[in-house]
Amino acid sequence: MPLPAIFSDFASLVFPRVCLACQQPLARGEDHICTDCRAQLPYTDYHQLPPTDNPLSRRFWGKVPVTHALSYLRFQKHGRVQHLLHQLKYRGQQDVGRVLGRWYGQELAEAGYSNFDLLVPVPLHARKLAKRGYNQADSFAAGLSVGLQCPWEPAALRRVAYTDSQTRKNRLQRWQNVATVFEVAQPDLLNGRHVLVVDDVLTTGATLEACAVVLLAAGAREVSIVTIATADR
Ligand SMILES: [Zn+2]
Repeated sequence: MPLPAIFSDFASLVFPRVCLACQQPLARGEDHICTDCRAQLPYTDYHQLPPTDNPLSRRFWGKVPVTHALSYLRFQKHGRVQHLLHQLKYRGQQDVGRVLGRWYGQELAEAGYSNFDLLVPVPLHARKLAKRGYNQADSFAAGLSVGLQCPWEPAALRRVAYTDSQTRKNRLQRWQNVATVFEVAQPDLLNGRHVLVVDDVLTTGATLEACAVVLLAAGAREVSIVTIATADR
């Protein structure tokens, strides 16, 4: 329940609310991200392209059938998007995922993307989850679930292997690193469903590809993928 205005005004005097993207104070009515940032975020608008023109879809061609490949924002080093993702992943700001998920989910629903049956976030390994305390993909999935009016299930997939940091590996090593790390934990939920796999960032696509492979093998009818941001290659 929202606080009465007098209390939220008082709270913002003590703890000034700042934009999660640019750190400037928020005006009343602004929702975690200021109007300026919201207007200037680098949106991909891939969902408005025909599937054959979507550069994200092309990354999965010849690897695994992915119905829709969607990403809200373009990742830019040192820009607002990097700051948002850092807040989400390392500063406990799960509101980043919830707000962006809600906005993007609404936009997708309005554009006719309403045929998903279940949202499934890419899981963290239990050890990493315990260390961080939350999965950064969960809050984005929760926000999308509101915008798309579609249920999400955080425990449908399980990450069974603990992978090292991806940063210093080449493409083949990254693929080998993730190829066998996921398994389906709840096959009943997935059978015959169109599953939308949710993650924070798409870099090579190997993680999402590995998830798509196990979901289809477990009986999912179709798999689509969605991330907050995508890094250009
Ligand atoms: Zn801002």
